[in-house]
Amino acid sequence: MSLEDEIKEIAIAAGADLVGITSKDRLMDHESSDPTYYLPSAESVIGFAVSLDKEIVRDFLQKTDLSAQKKMSLLEGETYYKLEDIGDAIKDFLESKSYEAINCESNMDYRRVKRMGKAGIKEFENLVELGQKNPDHPLVKKLKSGKMTLFDPDLTPYISHRYIGVACGIGRLGWSGNLITPKYGTCVYLGSVVTNAKLSSDPYMKDNPCSKKCKEVCTPVCQGQFIDSRETQTVKIGEIEEEIGKKHTLSKCILTCGAFTGQSKFKKWSTWSPWRTGIPNDDEEADRVLQQTFIDHILSGGQKAQNILRLVTAIQLGFRKAVKPIEDFHVSCAFCQLVCWENEDLRRENLEIIQSSGVVELEDGGKKVIRKGLS
Ligand code: SF4
Ligand code: SF4
Repeated sequence: MSLEDEIKEIAIAAGADLVGITSKDRLMDHESSDPTYYLPSAESVIGFAVSLDKEIVRDFLQKTDLSAQKKMSLLEGETYYKLEDIGDAIKDFLESKSYEAINCESNMDYRRVKRMGKAGIKEFENLVELGQKNPDHPLVKKLKSGKMTLFDPDLTPYISHRYIGVACGIGRLGWSGNLITPKYGTCVYLGSVVTNAKLSSDPYMKDNPCSKKCKEVCTPVCQGQFIDSRETQTVKIGEIEEEIGKKHTLSKCILTCGAFTGQSKFKKWSTWSPWRTGIPNDDEEADRVLQQTFIDHILSGGQKAQNILRLVTAIQLGFRKAVKPIEDFHVSCAFCQLVCWENEDLRRENLEIIQSSGVVELEDGGKKVIRKGLS
């Protein structure tokens, strides 16, 4: 059996649904996919995917009841843990053959964000406490003045698993920018192992499973208006040129996916966030709204500060098993990814389900409720 086949067998045995291999040459057009950042001697990357349980995804899209979010969040945690196990199994195997290998983090690992670990979390907690107890403290005044840097918009990942997925032939980029696969649509989470072993590349996926005919499905499910419905941008990965929906400022996704707001433009339904912040069309204005929302949530304390603390913790510690307990996962949106299944009928069905799923709100006592049937 070839080394490539052995690697794939190990990945499948550890729980991967899809696995492919690419040489580094296909990945050098973008800083975010250059594997030598992780491993200077890198020659190849193994990309793999784990599909999501559709019953749990459907209940989450439909907001069947409050437990649907909890189940989706547990599924996310289990899936990230499984990706870590698959990566470890490949890494151990390659190291047993005297190669170098790195099991890349699956999410929340950014090149220009300095991780301070627990010290960074403590610093944030202190700021929230000061905001509540000592509003005249110089740090709180600085926060209120908008002069405190709360967010670095450069979230270049250590490695783009989506680009690796295209390069190693397990999928292509869909209109929403997510990796789309023929069997699972975009309902997959991704992982990668970088190695100095010189491995043969798999063929690219010739036909893109995204026909773009249903972009009116994945575009309007984004309450953040992050994905443009008409304008395109081109992404080149090796010999593949993808034309995807233009991405607007990342602030629009962070406001929504980060659960700072659940409803902006589409009034009949929300994400799982109970809060409301209008997201302007203009990108620069949206950047300002994100900054102001961070300040408001820190100064509010309570559940709003807890929400931002969740984001700070994820950025400071990552998603690995050793640092993130499974009950700490919390999915609030991801609709652009979860809506796109393997065929157009199912995608349109999912869109209808989301649009009639109702809104999540907070009752006076702070308890989350789902309200259905708004018109
Ligand atoms: S919903 Fe349709 S247009 Fe959007 S990524 Fe999926 S297949 Fe492509
Ligand atoms: S995760 Fe949510 S907010 Fe972000 S792009 Fe997707 S649908 Fe939009």
